[in-house]
Amino acid sequence: MKDKSMQFNTKTIHGGQKPDDAYGSVMPPIYQTSTYAQSTPGGHKGYEYSRSANPTRTALENSLASIENGNYGLAFASGLAAIDAVIKLLQPGDEVISTNDLYGGSYRLFTKIFENFGVKFHFVGMSETEKISEHINEKTRLIWVETPTNPMMNIIDIRKVAEIARDHNLLLAVDNTFATPYLQQPLDLGADLVMHSATKYLGGHSDVVLGALVVKDKELADKLYFIQNASGAVAGPMDSFLVLRGIKTLHIRMQRHSENGRAVAEYLAQHPAIEKVYWPGFEDHPNHDIARSQMKDFGGMISFVTKDNDFQKAIRIVESLKVFTLAESLGGVESLAGHPASMTHASIPKEVREKSGVVDSLIRLSVGIEDERDLIADLEQAIG
Ligand SMILES: *Cc1c(COP(=O)(O)O)cnc(C)c1O
Repeated sequence: MKDKSMQFNTKTIHGGQKPDDAYGSVMPPIYQTSTYAQSTPGGHKGYEYSRSANPTRTALENSLASIENGNYGLAFASGLAAIDAVIKLLQPGDEVISTNDLYGGSYRLFTKIFENFGVKFHFVGMSETEKISEHINEKTRLIWVETPTNPMMNIIDIRKVAEIARDHNLLLAVDNTFATPYLQQPLDLGADLVMHSATKYLGGHSDVVLGALVVKDKELADKLYFIQNASGAVAGPMDSFLVLRGIKTLHIRMQRHSENGRAVAEYLAQHPAIEKVYWPGFEDHPNHDIARSQMKDFGGMISFVTKDNDFQKAIRIVESLKVFTLAESLGGVESLAGHPASMTHASIPKEVREKSGVVDSLIRLSVGIEDERDLIADLEQAIG
């Protein structure tokens, strides 16, 4: 069966995959090797050195391309290594327009590393897409979108941003870590490039750190492949295997994450001690209609603030949780809770983070796939 005609729930299992040539193993072997025997100088079977390519990584890269409806996948040592490769497409003097409430590590990479090399970043609240155009000039090369945003769960209209990018001949990259291709397929909405921290939902089991890029265009893929090989932050074979295994259950995990996400969001919304719940599935979420139009469901990422907005009380809540684990990261089968102001977003200055809503009492949940009754009972005892 041709890949392009498969449904998503089949692609996660079969997309870009075939049994291994050597013995027909259904899962690709973990080719734990750095190099490959050659019969004569240059005479090899497509692999010569594992930074350049490795068969287990290739199997994952083909799967990534398939599930994101792209033509080329590239797997990196981490999500940030994947972002690093994208920004290396640029030259000193070039400018990037980026989502303002984005992953803290992306913000740090942009401002603390690449600004030193002369790349300029504008951080813009992109829920109002017209704000993007105000920052476009002849030096602009790239628009960097994260949607839903982290941790405020704003939704950015990918189709509209893609129109702006096309009109100005800019590259549009979407960090699709939160949504995953189960919920949202940015390349189909007009983006040029999709990025993932596969550490999160794609891997899905909190046992691996890995990053990914997927593109449609051959020329862009070639440039990124050159950077991947030249800079060297590639995914290892064992890690590639783990993510490939994770992807096979992505669709059923995301379905349950979304169901549990709804149950938890609705519970929190009616709780008297909770001021506000940020979850795009609510009809009164400011970008709910866009979320509906570009996402299949709303996922398991939820943020909320308490009525008193008390820093210490928020810390007490996350410390009292028993089923939810207090930890960085997200997207695993187990539920996690985090306190962005002191954890993931501590590297963003207080004035900057508060402007985008990351206040002292904000708590972010990655709702896992446990029984929703246990998750709600846990929140009940922790919030009081
Ligand atoms: C975790 C994360 C990253 C960074 O990925 P790593 O695999 O940790 O390097 C980038 N973007 C988002 C949205 C993330 O959640």
